[in-house]
Amino acid sequence: MKKKYVYEFKEGSAKMKFLLGGKGSNLCEMTRLGFPVPQGFVISTDACNVYSRTGKFPQGMEKQVWSSLKNLEKKNRKKLGDPNDPLLVSVRSGAAFSMPGMMDTVLNLGLNESSVQGLIKQTQNPRFAYDSYRRFIQMFGDVVLKVDGAKFEHALSELKKKKGVKLDTELDEDDLKTLIKTFKRLVKKETGTDFPSNPKEQLKKAIVAVFESWNNPRANVYRRANNIPDDLGTAVNIQTMVFGNKGNDSATGVAFTRDPSTGAKKVYGEYLVNAQGEDVVSGARTPQPISKLKKQMPKIYKELENLMKKLEKHYKDMQDIEFTIEQGKLYMLQTRNGKRTAQAALKIAVDMVKERLLTRKQAIGRIDPNALDQLLHPRLDPASKYEVLVKGLPASPGAATGKVVFDADRAEELGRNGEKVILTRWETTPDDIHGVIVAQGILTSHGGMTSHAAVVARGMGKPCICGAEDIKIDLGNRIFKTNSTIVKEGDIVTIDGGSGEVILGRVPLISPSIGPDFKKLLAWADGLRKLKVRTNADTPEDARKAREFGAQGIGLCRTEHMFMAEDRLPYVREMILAETDEERKVALDKLLPVQRSDFEGIFKAMRGLPVNIRLLDPPLHEFLPNYCDLNVDLVKMQYENAPQSKIRQKEILIDKVRTQMEANPMLGLRGCRLGLIYGGIYKMQVRAIFEAACNIASKDSAPIVEVMIPLVAHANELKILREEVIEVVEEILKRRRKRIRYTVGTMIEIPRAAITADKIAEYADFFSFGTNDLTQTTFGFSRDDAEGKFLPNYLERKILADNPFEVLDESGVGKLVELATKLGRKTKPNLKLGVCGEHGGEPRSVKFFHKVGLDYVSCSPYRVPLARLAAAQATLADAEAGAREK
Ligand code: PEP
Ligand code: MG
Repeated sequence: MKKKYVYEFKEGSAKMKFLLGGKGSNLCEMTRLGFPVPQGFVISTDACNVYSRTGKFPQGMEKQVWSSLKNLEKKNRKKLGDPNDPLLVSVRSGAAFSMPGMMDTVLNLGLNESSVQGLIKQTQNPRFAYDSYRRFIQMFGDVVLKVDGAKFEHALSELKKKKGVKLDTELDEDDLKTLIKTFKRLVKKETGTDFPSNPKEQLKKAIVAVFESWNNPRANVYRRANNIPDDLGTAVNIQTMVFGNKGNDSATGVAFTRDPSTGAKKVYGEYLVNAQGEDVVSGARTPQPISKLKKQMPKIYKELENLMKKLEKHYKDMQDIEFTIEQGKLYMLQTRNGKRTAQAALKIAVDMVKERLLTRKQAIGRIDPNALDQLLHPRLDPASKYEVLVKGLPASPGAATGKVVFDADRAEELGRNGEKVILTRWETTPDDIHGVIVAQGILTSHGGMTSHAAVVARGMGKPCICGAEDIKIDLGNRIFKTNSTIVKEGDIVTIDGGSGEVILGRVPLISPSIGPDFKKLLAWADGLRKLKVRTNADTPEDARKAREFGAQGIGLCRTEHMFMAEDRLPYVREMILAETDEERKVALDKLLPVQRSDFEGIFKAMRGLPVNIRLLDPPLHEFLPNYCDLNVDLVKMQYENAPQSKIRQKEILIDKVRTQMEANPMLGLRGCRLGLIYGGIYKMQVRAIFEAACNIASKDSAPIVEVMIPLVAHANELKILREEVIEVVEEILKRRRKRIRYTVGTMIEIPRAAITADKIAEYADFFSFGTNDLTQTTFGFSRDDAEGKFLPNYLERKILADNPFEVLDESGVGKLVELATKLGRKTKPNLKLGVCGEHGGEPRSVKFFHKVGLDYVSCSPYRVPLARLAAAQATLADAEAGAREK
């Protein structure tokens, strides 16, 4: 049998999303439900993939297109290109996952010099017909024939200037005829050939353009940023045109079944009377809120509201629809699950459980843990005083501060250098995507809540303000003006995407907290998950914050961060540079009380929960002054004739620092090796920990302490250090007559440790996988060098699918985690297992750790809620997999 590439709307359903794309499969579904959908057919993503591979349509596809077209013509009783009553179609892209505005669309296809006459006959509206024709040439010219779109816009503005009018709608029939001639001339000049008049040729070319748009640069960038696989391909939707620009009884709009910003249950959207879809989506004209439609066309509004209710019930999710009203008749052009802010996602999920549309488990499965990051973004400090420069539409919540930048290239350039930028545009287009990705926030002076900037920013969880019309951008001079102020490129502004306020300068931001919907959903998640979630915290403030976010203990307290504090650093340096054990002891004695008080603070904040403290880990040179800087200082001192004694001191310091230098500090004297070579350091730390624990312990609550030895490669390292630790602890507990629950364990962060985990487990009460170092040592990459030098290239060339420092490399590093888990538990079935590398807060990796059977993950305080949700979703995935197997 011939392979089927073309599906009429009545042949498909929502289940065929991967074959027919999101848009196509939902058009089929709406047709099945009996909704008023202009009919059409879909060319499958398979066909696109064949085209991408071979540069040709797959065999048989074209024949199927012509046969479906014939059926469509019959259904509509109109023919493509008919000089009396022409059928016009739209040709739109549509992948399995929505990629707003990234690929191409052509409207009004089928118009030429004779069919335009047919359109006039049928509508008795020459202005409308010529306007449709000029729009078609413009869109087809830009999208299919690749004539620079700005050239058409320029010709249009020139004509308006000449006629002394401001709006496109003020151009009359004759003006539009002139414009059509100008556009055609432009096409001839730019492409060397006439604008194609044969409608079938137009259709074939448009299909090619949509297929090819799957691989255009902005679509590629978008896919990478949103983890959409490159091999899905796009479908092509060919649909009967209906017109929202046939006069004042016609309109076009977009609407959501709930507010995509807050999640509130009310129809939310925008529309434009006498306009075509692209006018709303592109933000070219500022649309009206949908509430006005209720007054303007009450019957239609009621019908629309009803259809939207039905859709939401059917899909059990918030829908984002496109509609057109043609001379008083409503048509549905699209429905899809609407993009929403994290805040809205939570509210909608929780509300839908209340409304019995979803079960709790379904609600948990609905939330993308990564999206919660948005809610954990900073807000403007309400205590701070500031003056609002201008106000725009609050399009995507969160606050951000950065330098004003007027174009995406510049934003990317500065962003790459670590600068914070606010991309400030008249409106954004899909071509700005690389700038949007690096920007802290987006500010546009035009467009509504459903404009490109708003949709994309919400999807990415970036603060965004749209339609700040009081900002006049002067691109030539790289400034924007408001009534009162001139702001130059590079000036700092703060934007609040939740209120729409733009503020000149920096405003203090505060960290967020968790709202009631968030709390409820996380409580449901806690009821499901098996993995515990701890936090990585080195200060009492972090520990408190994490506890507020639901952390069940500390999984990693990095003691070196305490050593870095300014008031300790001189003692730490003294300790490192000491030449004798006595000298070292003097320095350690000074450090002991400060370490002790650090631990007291942390134990208090985590009362009742386990605290895992890692003994000193990094190479010592990290605490010492930079060798090159010291030499520069020395030369300066010599040049300035500093006293000889001072110069001598500096020389001695330089000498000592040099002796500490290593060729590969990451693989040098660090971790447990430090503890073994400079015995006093670990002993002092253990003393500080347990003296603090004894000080804090009360009758009914004592700290639960886990002492962790880092970077063990051989069981013998741990054997010695464990004995030393226990000796110090027991001596203190005996002296203080206290009972403190404690365990001693190790990190698994070197392949050898993972491979010999059965031996290491003999001396460990727990393992914590240090997947940061385990990734470095398994790949043989140093993270700083890799991310700075070659990883971007690896990702670009798809040598690696993800950055392994962000998403756990399951097939390599993950194998070692699995192996060490098995070996460790073979020796000690009750060995406690956790992970404290950054992967502990990354949702995909969390799912892996669940699968392997770890007891807990530990991550930074702000990622604790994400990990709680991801862990619950991992349990759900287990249950689903189990159900499939049965
Ligand atoms: C690790 O290596 O994963 C780890 C948590 O330790 P650090 O990042 O401090 O080296
Ligand atoms: Mg480490």
